[in-house]
Amino acid sequence: AADHANIATPEQHAALAGLDRAHLIHPVAPWRRHEERGPTVLSSGHGVWLQDAQGRELLDAFAGLWCVNVGYGQESVVQAAVEQMRRLPYATGYFHFASEPAIRLAAKLVEITPASLTRAYLTLGGSESVDAAVRFIVQYYNNTGRPAKKHFIALERGYHGSSSTGAGLTALPVFHRGFDLPLATQHHIPSPNPYRHESGSDAAALIAASVASLRAKVAQLGAENVAAFFCEPVQGSGGVIVPPRGWLKAMADAARELDILFVVDEVITGFGRTGTMFACDAEGVQPDLMTLAKGLTSGYVPMGATMMSERVYAGIADGAPAGQPIGHGATYSAHPVSAAVALEVIRLYEEGGILANAQRVAARFAAGLAALRSHPLVGDVRCVGLLGALELVSDKASKRGFDPALGLADRLFALGYQHGLVFRSFGDHVLGFAPALTITEAELDVLFVRLCRVLDDALAAPDVRAAM
Ligand code: PMP
Repeated sequence: AADHANIATPEQHAALAGLDRAHLIHPVAPWRRHEERGPTVLSSGHGVWLQDAQGRELLDAFAGLWCVNVGYGQESVVQAAVEQMRRLPYATGYFHFASEPAIRLAAKLVEITPASLTRAYLTLGGSESVDAAVRFIVQYYNNTGRPAKKHFIALERGYHGSSSTGAGLTALPVFHRGFDLPLATQHHIPSPNPYRHESGSDAAALIAASVASLRAKVAQLGAENVAAFFCEPVQGSGGVIVPPRGWLKAMADAARELDILFVVDEVITGFGRTGTMFACDAEGVQPDLMTLAKGLTSGYVPMGATMMSERVYAGIADGAPAGQPIGHGATYSAHPVSAAVALEVIRLYEEGGILANAQRVAARFAAGLAALRSHPLVGDVRCVGLLGALELVSDKASKRGFDPALGLADRLFALGYQHGLVFRSFGDHVLGFAPALTITEAELDVLFVRLCRVLDDALAAPDVRAAM
C-alpha cells in the first residue's frame, strides 16, 4: 500500500533535487552528468517493494545494492537497533573494551563460517573488510619472518571495494583511472567467465586454465614474493560471472600448494545469496581469510567483517612485540548497534526461514531467467541461488555487444523505472538481479513480466534494431 506520508509535492521534490545537485557527491556516479540528471529519491520500502518520493511503486530486483537480503521493513531488526541504541548506543572496541552484541556476533560468525575461520574483526563495510585483510596479511608475513611476501593476485573483472588498496585489487577500469592504480604489488589473472573465456564453456578446461594462470603468475613473481590470492566466488560487480562448480575449490587447493594465502571475498555471496550460507560451503572450501559485509546486516546499518584462521591470527599476535598494540582499528569497529542488528538478521536467515525461502524459490528465479535466453537481445544467462544476470548482445553468434554510444544501459534502467522495476546494469550490456531472499514466487512472476516488457521495449527502439 502506498505510504502517502512519504510522497513529496512537485515543489518539494524540485527543491530537494536542487539541494542534491548542488551539494551531495554520489558514490560511483558521473558527477557532472548527475548534476544535469538529478537524483532518484527513494523514500520507503516494504519487503521487495520500494516507493520513490513521487509515490511510484517499484519492485526492487537488486535488494538495494545486493545487500537487503531480509527485505525492507523487518520490524524485529528495527527493534534490535532501537533496544541497543537505548541501552548503549556506542562502545569502543579499542584496548580491552567490548559490548555484548559484538562478542556474541564474533562467536556467531565463527560458528557459521567455514571451520578454518576462528577469529572475527568487525568493520564498517566491505571496503574496510578488504583493506583490513590486506593490512593483516602484510603484518602476518612481516611478523612471521617472510617480509618479501608483498604481492597480491586477484581476478580481472574482480571487485574488492574502493579503499586505496582494495580498489587496486579491483580490476574494473573506472576504479583505476585517475587513481594511480593498480599498485606495483597488485596483479590480475583472467576471469573464469564461461561465456567469454577462450577455453569455452568446458568446465574442466576453464578450471584448469584458471589454476594454470594462478601458477604462472606466482612463478613469474616468485612464490617467495607472493602474499595472497583474493577472489569472489561469483564475480559480482564485474558482471555476475559464475564460474563452473569446482572452480573455487581448485583455486583454494592451488593457493595452498603454492604457499600463498587464499582470501575469499564473500561480501556479495555471503549470507544465503547463492543458496548456501556462504558460497564456500557449497564446495567445502576452507579459506585463510574471508571478507563479509552487505547481508551481514542486510544494509539496515553499516557493518562488515574480516574473518581469519587461527594460523594467521597467531602469526600476527605472536610476532608483534609483547604488549604492543596491533595498530589497526576505527572508532566504529565492532559498533554495538550494528552488531545487534547483525545478530537479529542472522537469526532471521537461520530461524526465520529466510535461507529456506531463498532455496525454495531459487528454481523459479532460474527458470524465469532461463526463459529469456530465447529473447533476441539475450546472449547469456547466468544464475546461482538468487543471484543472476543477462548479458545482452547485438549478435548471438559472434557475442558482439552494443556500441556504448547507444547508451543501452541507461535506457534499460529508465525503461525499468517506467515499468516499476529496479535492477542493476554492469557496463553497457549486463543486467544484474539479486532480489531480497524473502521474495515470493508470485513476486518473482511480477519481476519477470516487467523485465520482459523492458527488454521488448528496448528491442522496439529503431536504433537498437538497426544495431543488430
Ligand atoms: N567486495 C565485494 C565482492 C563487493 O561486492 C563489494 C561491494 N559491492 C565490496 C567488497 C565493497 O563493499 P562496500 O561497498 O561495503 O565497501
